Amino acid sequence: VKLANCESVFRNILSKIDTFLFDCDGVLWQGNIAVKGAPAVVAHLKSLGKQVCYVTNNSTKSRHRYVEKLTRLGFPADVNSVFSTAYTSALYLKNIAKVLVQGKVYLVGNPAMAEELDSLKIQHFGSGPDNQVTTQDHDEVRSCALENDVSAVLVGYDGHISYTKMIKAASYLNDPKCLYVATNEDHRMPLNGERHVVPGTGCVVASVTVAAGRNPDVIAGKPGTFMLKCIQQTVEIDPTKCMMVGDRMNTDILFGNQSELHTLLVLSGVEDQESLNKAVESSDPNMKRQVPEYCMGSIGDWYAIYE
Ligand code: PLP
Ligand code: CA
Repeated sequence: VKLANCESVFRNILSKIDTFLFDCDGVLWQGNIAVKGAPAVVAHLKSLGKQVCYVTNNSTKSRHRYVEKLTRLGFPADVNSVFSTAYTSALYLKNIAKVLVQGKVYLVGNPAMAEELDSLKIQHFGSGPDNQVTTQDHDEVRSCALENDVSAVLVGYDGHISYTKMIKAASYLNDPKCLYVATNEDHRMPLNGERHVVPGTGCVVASVTVAAGRNPDVIAGKPGTFMLKCIQQTVEIDPTKCMMVGDRMNTDILFGNQSELHTLLVLSGVEDQESLNKAVESSDPNMKRQVPEYCMGSIGDWYAIYE
């Protein structure tokens, strides 16, 4: 793994890369605070004529909300540069699964996902709390109404995940013709020294997967390759000149490596030197595919070089 925080490596990256794909949380910001120097670095890359895209697994914001957040934190952005899983999952249902999705989509998700489905005119239901069934009693379970013509189940971040929603999702998915789409499988949020563990969307997806007895047919976010296809609909990408910048090895870096992009891991988010070393030293082929080409502490480290 090459260190990217020195001038010669930075110049070399600038000379060969024309498109940067930035993961958001852990790379550009931590929660609601921009990573120090990150807005200036992204603006600098843009001023050099580089293409910049924002590629996030977070399904809780629509593309428009992302533009608002990026702008508020000082990053140059328009809606065509944002690729978030609320959007890409809707795009998958619309463009790829269009034959299947004559019927409705059962959504285990959140308002941003509902908004992106609406904007592509995809019929859906299920968002919001649904706690009707709380026991395994068969009479009670049977009282839970199931709709007809459900051709896909879409699962993303859902703060109202419940036993009732698991029953419904698994029942629809019991029909093998019903498509199963998940936004992402991130396990949990970075701890940042906190005591409370914050479960990620992967926990919601896992509950449906176990109940349904089948895996998602497609993951609309990283490391799934559909994400790159979405980006390529808007942005011309030569993989040999494109770099994925991320903070999580099993999503961002694996995504970049699988698509044969250049990869840069920053240690301002989920991973630290220890987890990186572990991947580097591992003989497990799964872990090997998660090893980045470059690494540095934070994207802001580049500011000190050109400034
Ligand atoms: N999913 C949810 C619900 C999140 O809140 C976050 C980060 O805030 C993520 C996924 C990871 O997002 P990213 O791919 O931008 O790191
Ligand atoms: Ca991240």
